[in-house]
Amino acid sequence: MSALMREWWEAGERGVLLYRACPACGSRTFVARTACPACSTAMEWRESRRNGTVHAVTTVHRSTVTAAGRPAPYTTGYVELEEGVRMLVTFAAGATAARIGDSVVIAFERVGDRALPVATLPGGTRVP
Ligand SMILES: [Zn+2]
Repeated sequence: MSALMREWWEAGERGVLLYRACPACGSRTFVARTACPACSTAMEWRESRRNGTVHAVTTVHRSTVTAAGRPAPYTTGYVELEEGVRMLVTFAAGATAARIGDSVVIAFERVGDRALPVATLPGGTRVP
């Protein structure tokens, strides 16, 4: 695991969702890049307020893999954080009816030895 991703996972253990931001041009991304894709400046971690809007969502009914420790059916999709960063995330069991445009909060669920981010409905926040 890269040092960057280690920082990201450790933040999740504290219920903190990090994203990358460029201090020079303001570009933001959820991908753990070292250099800004727009201007090549070293990017830094910023803490998200974890509020977002559903950009796309689907329920997977048949799958050979699990999502956030859940076998199919599970709901997954893209959430646009209010910081302007889009992330692919599994939806918590109580948020599987979420639709495009709905407000969600990113929380963390304990799966094995990891705290995984999940989309929850506002008020349904859980921390590890
Ligand atoms: Zn930049």
